Amino acid sequence: MRESFENFTSIFKRTSKTAEGASFAAERPCQCSPGWPALETTANGYVLPAEASSHYSLMTNPDLGPFVARCTGCQARYPHPWVIPPGAPMPFDWAHD
Ligand SMILES: [Zn+2]
Repeated sequence: MRESFENFTSIFKRTSKTAEGASFAAERPCQCSPGWPALETTANGYVLPAEASSHYSLMTNPDLGPFVARCTGCQARYPHPWVIPPGAPMPFDWAHD
C-alpha cells in the first residue's frame, strides 16, 4: 500500500502543476463559504470545468490517472469523486478515445 501511495504521490507532483509551474491544487480543505462553489481541473496546461459526482470517471479516478480537481475559489484540492462534465471543451487527443 505504501509503495503505491508513493507512486501516486510522485505522479500527482509531476502532473498537478500549472503551465507556469505553480502547484495546481492545494492540499487543504476548501475555505469558501459555501464550500466548493465550483470545480476545475487541468490537463496539458489547459483548465477544464469539473463537476462533483457520486463516482469517479475512468479519466478522473486518482487510482488510474493523474488528474486532480480544485476549488475555483480557493484552489483547494477536491477530495471526493468528480467528473469532467459532458460537453466540456476538450482539445485533447485522449478526449476522442
Ligand atoms: Zn474553496
